[in-house]
Amino acid sequence: MPELPEVETVVRFIRPKIVGKTIQNIIPQNNYDKVLATHTSQQFNELVAGKSIIDVGRRGKYIVINLNNGFLLIHLRMTGRLLLNLTEDDKPKHLTAIIHFSDKSSLYFKDYRKFGRLYYYESLNYINKKLGVEPLSKNFTKDWLFKNLQNSKRQLKLLLLDQGFIAGLGNIYVDEALWFAKLHPQQIGSSVSRKKSNALHGAVQRLLQTAIDNQGTTIINFYFGEGKSGNFREQLQVFGRHDKNCPRCDSLIEKIRVAQRGTHICPRCQHI
Ligand SMILES: [Zn+2]
Repeated sequence: MPELPEVETVVRFIRPKIVGKTIQNIIPQNNYDKVLATHTSQQFNELVAGKSIIDVGRRGKYIVINLNNGFLLIHLRMTGRLLLNLTEDDKPKHLTAIIHFSDKSSLYFKDYRKFGRLYYYESLNYINKKLGVEPLSKNFTKDWLFKNLQNSKRQLKLLLLDQGFIAGLGNIYVDEALWFAKLHPQQIGSSVSRKKSNALHGAVQRLLQTAIDNQGTTIINFYFGEGKSGNFREQLQVFGRHDKNCPRCDSLIEKIRVAQRGTHICPRCQHI
């Protein structure tokens, strides 16, 4: 699933290409009307038709398209992709929606697994209430993290995956950040020392920024633009590297289950 760096990469790719365009309509494909999550197809179109795109940004894992009145949000979920052009490889049956612009160009939403959704909101209040702190914003400070870890009785993996706590992290970057901070994913938040909390804070910010600089991580499903993949995979230290050696201590990396999620740890570097 695309996480913060992958969504940010998509945002940076489409922003210069669609800002200034006016939406003509948004048509669900293959009778998949539920791709429009907040309204019926007719209502949705009444709300977006004729509106211009002022900016494109990101909140957590949502792509936020700022219209001259209201917001069109897109969540890619597992396999959603936004394309400006279709190629022969893009099967029509995998399209879930097409955004038509008044200049006759289009933005195609291709989604093999069909979990991706489009939303329309008058304001961002609803989404801001649902989502936690942005980890690359000034609100995500060392003090904030330590204080909020202190108040939590949850396991770190669960806590960090919770979009209502920190927005945008997923399985890849949580495993990587915990490895960097030498924290076990099943350790309870309130038991984390100030020193390790600071290490986790630094790891989260450094990882996300470096991953964005490398246009995200492509394991299987993440592509942006016309089939471009992210380059951060080569820099992963533990994720997807079970039975390989820990880059820090040479022990074998293990894959365990935490909260139903495959979780990669170095048993020597990360213990409770
Ligand atoms: Zn190790």
